[in-house]
Amino acid sequence: MTREPLLLTPGPTIVPPSVREALGQPMDHHRTKEFQAVLKEVGEGLKKVFGTAQEVLILTSSGTGAMEAAVANLLSAGDEAIVIRGGKFGERWGELCEAFGVKFIPVDPAWGKPLDLKAFEGILKQHPQAKAVFATLCETSTGVVFDMRGLRRAINNAGSQALLVVDAISGLGADSFAMDEFGVDVAVSGSQKGLMLPPGLAFIALSPRAWEAAAKTKSPRYYYDLNLAKKAWGQTDTPFTPAISLIVGLKESLKIVLSKGVEAFVAGHRADAEKLRSDVQKMGLELYADPACASNAVTMIKVPAGLDGKELLKQIRAKHNIVMAGGQGKELVGKVVRIATMGAVGPAEIQLGLTALEQVLEEMGWRTKVAAK
Ligand SMILES: *Cc1c(COP(=O)(O)O)cnc(C)c1O
Repeated sequence: MTREPLLLTPGPTIVPPSVREALGQPMDHHRTKEFQAVLKEVGEGLKKVFGTAQEVLILTSSGTGAMEAAVANLLSAGDEAIVIRGGKFGERWGELCEAFGVKFIPVDPAWGKPLDLKAFEGILKQHPQAKAVFATLCETSTGVVFDMRGLRRAINNAGSQALLVVDAISGLGADSFAMDEFGVDVAVSGSQKGLMLPPGLAFIALSPRAWEAAAKTKSPRYYYDLNLAKKAWGQTDTPFTPAISLIVGLKESLKIVLSKGVEAFVAGHRADAEKLRSDVQKMGLELYADPACASNAVTMIKVPAGLDGKELLKQIRAKHNIVMAGGQGKELVGKVVRIATMGAVGPAEIQLGLTALEQVLEEMGWRTKVAAK
């Protein structure tokens, strides 16, 4: 097979040709007028994608770096926070809190299911000291999108002062998101999902209230001190050497998103994800996430009982050069397949994926086994 691997994984995702070309440009220095112009342009573009009037800071790390920056800059050891853990990435917020000595109250909706907002409101009332609520827009490990407006409403209804901190790493650009309108205090994302870049950039934006908290925090930090990043950004600069090539690439990937318009870009992924879910069910396969909270960014499909999901993915890659993701965590390894519908993945790529999936399933004896049951 001569075709390059087709990535249908929820990160990294396909890097479009114009972005690749930009990534391959000769290296220029970052403390120049030319690079400042690039920083200005991507800064404006990121604000549109995040739906915020606040500055979106660019960090050099994978998405988790921005998650760590959020915890380290908002909270100090001994502070209390609420962590919504609907999957592996929700759990990561809890692990980060632990690393910084933050006492966290876990809220554990069943994987694949929405959060009970009434119950959540009750938890907020029981924990008036909580300084932050850590949530996930798209929980990539289950394919669930959480209701950010609902979380904000619950926080307000409970009279809580907690900051709403959102991991929008995979959701941004695929699921509907508008930081300011949704009342989100901190939003983080990364480059290798909906923004169609290689991994290596993380993004973070803070509301004025979150910046107030960041000025008072005692948690140790150096590279991820957002006050430094903010100060430099005020002079269209970064405190350390930025990932120059990736930022030059970002300028191109933002052009792709913004030339369509953020809402139209999201709507395209919504249509693709809906069609994918319907096609998968027509094939006779089952979806994992409750349709009431299914994300546009990633769809999780149950591997038919009796078949080895790891082998399935291996063969899809070997025979079709298509890469899909498996399950994360003990309960899901080998039992599910995840297909991303974010970034540059469109109907043609999804169709290739579905054809390959069906073909390999049949070769593994799926139809005959199902029929024989
Ligand atoms: C991919 C992902 C992350 C982790 O990002 P890295 O870039 O691997 O650090 C965190 N949260 C969610 C929801 C993700 O999809």
